[in-house]
Amino acid sequence: MKVVDHINAANDTLFSFEILPPLKGKSIESIYKGIDPLMEFKPKFVNVTYHREEYIYRERDRGLLEKVAIRKRPGTVGICAAIMNKYHVDAVPHLICGGFSKDETENALIDLQFLGIDNVLALRGDPIKTESTFRRTKNGHKYAVELIEQIAAMNKGHYSLDEIELEPTDFCIGAAGYPEKHFESMNMATDLHYLKKKVDEGADYIVTQLFFDNKKFFHFVEKCRENGIDIPIIPGIKPITKMRHISFLPKFFHIDFPDELSRELLKCKTDEEVKAVGMRWGTEQSKELKAAGVPCIHYYTMSDSTEVKQIAREVF
Ligand code: FAD
Repeated sequence: MKVVDHINAANDTLFSFEILPPLKGKSIESIYKGIDPLMEFKPKFVNVTYHREEYIYRERDRGLLEKVAIRKRPGTVGICAAIMNKYHVDAVPHLICGGFSKDETENALIDLQFLGIDNVLALRGDPIKTESTFRRTKNGHKYAVELIEQIAAMNKGHYSLDEIELEPTDFCIGAAGYPEKHFESMNMATDLHYLKKKVDEGADYIVTQLFFDNKKFFHFVEKCRENGIDIPIIPGIKPITKMRHISFLPKFFHIDFPDELSRELLKCKTDEEVKAVGMRWGTEQSKELKAAGVPCIHYYTMSDSTEVKQIAREVF
């Protein structure tokens, strides 16, 4: 079932979460261990992230270095199929532009369709770790909007290689939104302009980047509505649970902590203290979002569901 159909059928805020494929070589059991405790909250869908290749240098004979591409977390599509099979909930694979030609994207979408996967979160992806800017893969897409255009075209039976119309796919398409704007955008107005283009090309709903200031989310939704973006907007929430998160989250996700939260975090001396503040904050944030009637709250588990479970207990 499609994410938007779940949203339309619900009479209360839904619960969903996002997981990462395990590091290469680890078993699918590590995924089940993270999902099992969250099933009591009856998630309607589970997102699985996609991780593109990275480049590393391997030492060869005579001191030579060889540049090799590796994927540390493969398995997105396989995990989606396994989740649907084991838990009978919908899985939403993330599909990115980086590393894919248009033909490879088309083939990936055909695989998803054959597996009975109705949903896809269409993203550009970040630059390769060793590069400072995102570069289009040969014959691939530069922006998520182009990927969305391709999926929407397939939904109408237009595939890339053939002039003739083929059997249409029927994907529900998600897109990313940024309550604190995407870090490459000149300003919020420009970012919203491009977000609107994603909607015009066929995005059915938006999932936001994680944020800690609900006011920024509500303002973002308001601005989206003013700009004619009228599809469901799902807030993304991540509990802070470790000292390391205090610097990592703002740096990696280009987000700010609100003053009140940063003041509380500054007083913390241990991971336990940080976790207590982070859990309190995440719970209050979730309760406020639910009270405001958001369609769904999407939790970023980042491979550990323990804290999300505790918050869900309080909220759902
Ligand atoms: P886009 O919508 O293409 O936007 C990228 C930038 O380009 C923005 O600044 C935008 O304003 C600008 N822009 C857009 N269109 C145009 C245009 N036509 N002309 C000029 N400028 C334009 N990354 C992964 O690698 N794997 C994942 O699984 C993953 N999951 C994510 C899930 C969520 C919910 C979110 C919010 C992000 C996720 N990301 C993931 C990260 C995402 O790939 C990065 O944030 C990436 O830098 C931007 O992706 P996007 O789809 O928002 O890009």
